[in-house]
Amino acid sequence: MLTPELEEFIARMPKVELHVHLEGSITPRTLLELAQRNGVEIPARDVAGVEQLFRYRNFGEFLTVFMNLARAIVRGSDFERLAYELGIALAEQNILYAEVMLSPMQHLRRGMDLLETIEGTATGFAQAERETGIMWRIALDYGRQYGPDQAWEVLEVARRAMPYGVVGWSIGGNEIGHPPEPFAEVFANARKAGLHVMAHAGEVAGPPSIWGAIEMLQAERLGHGIRSVDDPELLEYLRDHQVVLDICPSSNLLTGATATWNSHPLRQLYDAGVAVTINSDDPTFFHTTLTEEFRRVVQHFGFGVDDLCVLALNSARAAFLPETEKTALVERVEKQLAALRSELGI
Ligand SMILES: [Zn+2]
Repeated sequence: MLTPELEEFIARMPKVELHVHLEGSITPRTLLELAQRNGVEIPARDVAGVEQLFRYRNFGEFLTVFMNLARAIVRGSDFERLAYELGIALAEQNILYAEVMLSPMQHLRRGMDLLETIEGTATGFAQAERETGIMWRIALDYGRQYGPDQAWEVLEVARRAMPYGVVGWSIGGNEIGHPPEPFAEVFANARKAGLHVMAHAGEVAGPPSIWGAIEMLQAERLGHGIRSVDDPELLEYLRDHQVVLDICPSSNLLTGATATWNSHPLRQLYDAGVAVTINSDDPTFFHTTLTEEFRRVVQHFGFGVDDLCVLALNSARAAFLPETEKTALVERVEKQLAALRSELGI
């Protein structure tokens, strides 16, 4: 139950967000202003009109809306603004560290200089860090529907962008009809370059997609992975090898990946001992924040304060940071959680 004490605990608890897309965090006001300034036609004249655009009936439509609206983001300075605004919004939720994904193909296909978008993003986050202390890193999330051939070009940029805080390589986009296996070689090279690797898997496709991401891509973390509940052997593997699932509950509900809160497998995964984290995915599209996601998991899955602490620590332990920095982050989270619990008496 969401008691007033738990509500306050959730608002103030130290958090780590590992699965959030920069483009999916754009506020309606910023989208409107960028579209106007960049001369990009969108079918809306005011903020209320833009809010109406964030509508879709299924995962396919969601991707189309996402791609259409991303066209409004054009220059490096646009990315700087998005990253700064996201950094501030995350810090306000006491998110100590965030890993933020960029969708490179959305921008490369429009002829943009990918390095410029990454530089802009890094500049925006660095400003937010100076103002709030939030730590951040960037991951490139390659749209699997574009196939492995073009991924090499993007990976080369990712490698060159490592000094700008790029630490992760991922595949996302349309999982149906685009299995992980053809990306095995790209992922092997990403790992060789020193990038951490993850994959969206088991969001709208079944267990074979998850097995492929683990065995062929050696993904360290999986985006969603919720369909692993359909395969007992896979569940056991995830638990025994502590493969982390970055769960985004509202996202799953709104894209139709799960039909209802009752049928969402978060509780089942958690109770099976799988290391799960809680995330917002695309906060604007899913009308949520990380804080709101924690509220919802308490309401719908009956999680208590002990569980919230486990979830927050799971995220800190799964960060793509060097060991010493990760240990320091885990200790900060532990310390803040303990202090808050004793202050609130819960
Ligand atoms: Zn995602």
